[in-house]
Amino acid sequence: MSESLGSGPVPRPQTTLRHRLAELRGPASAPHPLDARALAALAANPGCRRRALLDGAGVDKAALASALGAPSGFGQSQFAFMRGHAFEAKVKADGGAELLRLLGVDDREDVRVPDLTAAGPQGRAARTALALREATEAGAEGAWTLLDHPMLALEVAGSPAYLEPDAVVVGPGGRWTVVEIKSFPMIDGSADAAKVGAAARQAAVYVLALERTARVTEGASVAHSVLLVCPKDFTNQPTGSVVDVRKQLSVTRRQLARLTRVEDIAAALPEGVSFDVAACSAEELTAAVEAVPHAYAPECLAACELAFHCRDRARAAGAVEALGRSVRGELGGLTTVGAVLAAARGEAGDPDDPAVAALRRAAALRAESLEEAAACR
Ligand code: SF4
Repeated sequence: MSESLGSGPVPRPQTTLRHRLAELRGPASAPHPLDARALAALAANPGCRRRALLDGAGVDKAALASALGAPSGFGQSQFAFMRGHAFEAKVKADGGAELLRLLGVDDREDVRVPDLTAAGPQGRAARTALALREATEAGAEGAWTLLDHPMLALEVAGSPAYLEPDAVVVGPGGRWTVVEIKSFPMIDGSADAAKVGAAARQAAVYVLALERTARVTEGASVAHSVLLVCPKDFTNQPTGSVVDVRKQLSVTRRQLARLTRVEDIAAALPEGVSFDVAACSAEELTAAVEAVPHAYAPECLAACELAFHCRDRARAAGAVEALGRSVRGELGGLTTVGAVLAAARGEAGDPDDPAVAALRRAAALRAESLEEAAACR
């Protein structure tokens, strides 16, 4: 999408930015907390300014989508949630016996499992940081530590986001490894690539948050591979796979750095724009959302609450992005469905353009096949 943002960005100090983001969200609305799933989704669509701004401002996108008349179909079903919960409980039952077995730890009596309870997310994050420091010291002596649902803090667009991985394991040598427990099956040692990709992006957010803590913890290092635990084949038996998240880590890092520039996106908005669901009409909200460029792709359907709204807009504009990123890439400079059809019919487009030539060849083959089919009738 390429709507204009109007005048250029105006630099604003951080406090003014926070004030502006609160204005956009609605002064009476508490910021919607960002979790690892949301941060991972941001990394999956780094070109979307709309999502970057709404997440940076802490807007409740599910409420916004409903107010726009395009409620989200995004999110875990109750059944999937319960199945995930039950599988995680099985993996962690009996002091994490199954998890430790997957890590190759035989003598779980010696594994430390610190109590991480504390008041509020800030308190839990501080307790986790302390437990990680103690675990690193214990790791230097050869001990294993299992941190069950630690709380990690990561600063996003000037505000702390609190993230809760399923587990972090600190092994001998003081290396911290994220454990991600998912209830989709791993069949013959491999799982659905899209689901593994989403889990890897989510785990990369945890790795990033851990790296911030590790920087101030002597002797600590964070593994750039995570342990993904899933049910084996068609059973409920846990199995593990080590997933390299270096690529996801660098994308997430880059995208979070971009998020700190939400001020540029906010500064370019016309005066009076607001995403306050409680105070604005559906028309006002629609105009506000349309004032921020989006980058719709079918992947949004599994990752963003605004997907139905953005898809409708992309389809109405005839944008080829609605057909998928790979199709978009193949079509080069042809950005609308109308331009693609005109090029295929020979009414427009440069015949030397490989995309135009391929479309005309495809159109000719189709016409030929239709003629043959008609002749056979
Ligand atoms: S659904 Fe819309 S707002 Fe969300 S990531 Fe996709 S394009 Fe951006």
